[in-house]
Amino acid sequence: MAAADPRTEVLVLGALGTVLIATNAIVLFALGSAPFAPAVVSNVAYLAGGIALLIALALGVLLYLYSDAADTNAQVTYSTLIVIAGGLALFVGGGFNVGTLFTVVAGVLGIVLARLPDSLEEKEPSTKSPADLRPPPTEARVPRPSNAPTSSVPPSMSSVVWFCMRCGATNRPEDSNCIGCGAARGTKA
Ligand SMILES: [Zn+2]
Repeated sequence: MAAADPRTEVLVLGALGTVLIATNAIVLFALGSAPFAPAVVSNVAYLAGGIALLIALALGVLLYLYSDAADTNAQVTYSTLIVIAGGLALFVGGGFNVGTLFTVVAGVLGIVLARLPDSLEEKEPSTKSPADLRPPPTEARVPRPSNAPTSSVPPSMSSVVWFCMRCGATNRPEDSNCIGCGAARGTKA
C-alpha cells in the first residue's frame, strides 16, 4: 500500500457524515424531550432520533470494517452498505442532509477506489509481456579498453585503437571514420 492511502479520504468523509447524522439524532432527542412538544411530536422525534443514532453506529462499524478490509471485494461490500446507510439516514434527518451527502459520496468513492487497483492489476501482465518478448537493445560497440583516453589526453600520446566492424581495419582513436572503408565509427558490420 502507498504511504498516502487514498482510503483515508473515504474514512474522513464517512466519519464527517456519521458525526452529522449522530448530531442530527441528538437534535431530534432534544426536540422530543422539549417540554412544549406535543406527545405525538415527541414520540416521532424520539423514534427518528433512535433510528438516526442506530444508522450512525452502523456507519461507524462499517467505516471501521472498511478501513480494516484488505480484500477489494469486502471494501466494495462495506462501501455499498455505507451508501445505503447514508441514504436511509435521509429519512431521519440525514445529518441535516449534509451527513447523507458525505456518507454517500464516501461510499461511492470507496467502491471506485476498490475497483481501481483491480483494473491496474489486470493491465499489468499485458503491458509486461511484450517488453519481455522484445529483444534487449543491442548497440554496436567498438571494442575499447577501460583505459580508453579521454579528451584531455592528446591523441598522439594514446596507443589505443579501434577496429572497424565492417572491414576490420585498425583505426586511431582520433579517427571518427574508418580509414579502410570510410564507415563512421560504431557502424555495424
Ligand atoms: Zn572499415
